[in-house]
Amino acid sequence: MKKYSRILLKLSGESLAGDKEQGIDEKQLEEYARQLKEVAQSGVEIGVVIGGGNIFRGLSGSKKGFDRIKGDQMGMLATVINSLALSSALTSIGQNNRVFTSIRMEPVGELYTKWKAIEAMQNGEIAILAGGTGNPIFTTDTASALRGIEIEADAMFKGTRVDGVYTADPEKEPSAFKFDRISFDEVYARGLKVMDLTATTLCKDNNLPVVVFDMDTYGNLKKVIDGEPIGTVVYV
Ligand code: UDP
Repeated sequence: MKKYSRILLKLSGESLAGDKEQGIDEKQLEEYARQLKEVAQSGVEIGVVIGGGNIFRGLSGSKKGFDRIKGDQMGMLATVINSLALSSALTSIGQNNRVFTSIRMEPVGELYTKWKAIEAMQNGEIAILAGGTGNPIFTTDTASALRGIEIEADAMFKGTRVDGVYTADPEKEPSAFKFDRISFDEVYARGLKVMDLTATTLCKDNNLPVVVFDMDTYGNLKKVIDGEPIGTVVYV
């Protein structure tokens, strides 16, 4: 029995850039697509939310003089670009998928509803949920929490470059150690930055565990699905 039968995977836009600082690294994209295909073919239902930080972030834009709301709209469109890139990479390796957008923009993607996304996943398609929440000010971590709750995922998987949640930044603090499991309350008490607080609170209040793991090591997605103790589980 697999530990997870339906997941919401969050990938940051930055991670799509791979070794480049911006934009999309095709090799990295293909590696993610292959990991996703392997897990989808084993019968796990997958929804994916991708960030847009490799292209544009509203908050950083506003510091450079962009209107915050327009900047956030640009950021949301950036997530759509990344989602189309992932869709294309999945299709090219034979993995069925569908792009849903939080803002109406057919024919780029179908307008998201919970039921259409679940139907797609039940048909073996990976549901790529683009456009964040559709609202400015929020982040794609919050969009992931929201969509994870909506699609009734067993957990939200946060694929990062770090292999879990640490007591402190391990690059700055050599004595920092990694948690295998940590409660949301302890995340608050220790002031750990697993996600922004809006996303964290949504997950806590709606009983959606978060698994933080290193998605850049090939094969890790499958390992986490199979219940191998890598990464950190944040639980209610
Ligand atoms: N964004 C937004 N509303 C949302 C999700 C995202 O306005 O619901 C905008 C916001 O400007 C954000 C940008 O899209 O900075 C890219 O998303 P995010 O920063 O979460 O991407 P990541 O850091 O994961 O690459």
